[in-house]
Amino acid sequence: MRGNRRPVRWVHRLVRRQAAVLGLAVVAVACSTAPGPEQNTERDNAEAGTKESSVSQRMMMGTMFQIRVVAKDEASADAAIEAAYGEIARIERLLSEWSESSEISAVNAAAGLEPVVVGPELFEVVERAVRYSELTDGAFDVTFASCGHLWSFGDTPRIPSDAEVAGCLPGIGFRRLELDPARSSLYLPESGMRLGIAAIGKGYGVDRAAEILEARGITDYIVEGGGDVRLRVREGGRPWKVGIAHPRRSGELYATLQIGGGAVATSGDYERFFERDGVVYHHIIDPRSGYPARRTVAVTVVATNATDADALATGLFVLGPDSGMQVVESLPGVEALFFGADLAVSRSSGFPDYTPLP
Ligand code: ADP
Ligand code: MG
Repeated sequence: MRGNRRPVRWVHRLVRRQAAVLGLAVVAVACSTAPGPEQNTERDNAEAGTKESSVSQRMMMGTMFQIRVVAKDEASADAAIEAAYGEIARIERLLSEWSESSEISAVNAAAGLEPVVVGPELFEVVERAVRYSELTDGAFDVTFASCGHLWSFGDTPRIPSDAEVAGCLPGIGFRRLELDPARSSLYLPESGMRLGIAAIGKGYGVDRAAEILEARGITDYIVEGGGDVRLRVREGGRPWKVGIAHPRRSGELYATLQIGGGAVATSGDYERFFERDGVVYHHIIDPRSGYPARRTVAVTVVATNATDADALATGLFVLGPDSGMQVVESLPGVEALFFGADLAVSRSSGFPDYTPLP
């Protein structure tokens, strides 16, 4: 049932090779990753003399993570990376919608029945998700899963019937989600409503991992998970390079950005999709229709942190370049580059300069 675009794993491999050829630290490709070559490591060692750099990759949260740090010696670099992965594993358990024992599953199971008391961290993540839902006027919607769970983009793709979509749409509506900060409880007031936080969870994991590195005094690092990147450059260090994948040319880059700090995230229609009867269906759902959003092919967001960048990329993808750009221009510290449905590129006024690759 795969479409004529290459399946995910193949894309990963191509992107990886391309990254190695071009000497990039990270390729920001939606829901994917690409390990960088050693060039950056050499850069740091040559510059700092005594600095040591470590790089490591691991499958987590259903995607590939990569962490690269520069530290005073290899042992502290490795220990910091290990601690950061430990934190990502903790976040994965905390935010898992698939494990029946998670807090979020309990909230979903109690929809229409009763509020569920949750820990402060999940409460905060959901609060943030509601803020992005407001900022994008429901294009990102933390309750999109009321319909989203009827779709499957894995090995056995599934398209819900028109009747199923008509039945699930009334369950979407973040404004009806009840948050009680005093009790730390969440309540979905109607049965059939569901929370879905996958579009923010990876960015949150990346941010938490970066915070763990910072707490150990690491000031030069890049953390990447499935297309969401958070990085910092130590004083006097050179910026990291982050590649923007070309959404329609597998394994090729559209451009590279030089970034000295902050976060980059990409959402695209080309990583998790299937084709049926000549129509491509991908995993970002327009909460207004219950079907995949069609206004955007890919959007890359630059922000101060990966949680914002991740959630906004999903919401802006649904909004499309026209109304999406208005949202971007209204948010300080947020920039975006869109590939519209016709592949036309538009970028916000403060988007970092880049040279498009041939
Ligand atoms: P990726 O996981 O490829 O990086 P995103 O960060 O854009 O991509 O997240 C996509 C995921 O977000 C989907 O798999 C789904 O779980 C969820 N999602 C899809 N549509 C929406 C939406 N309109 N609002 C919130 N979450 C969504
Ligand atoms: Mg996202």
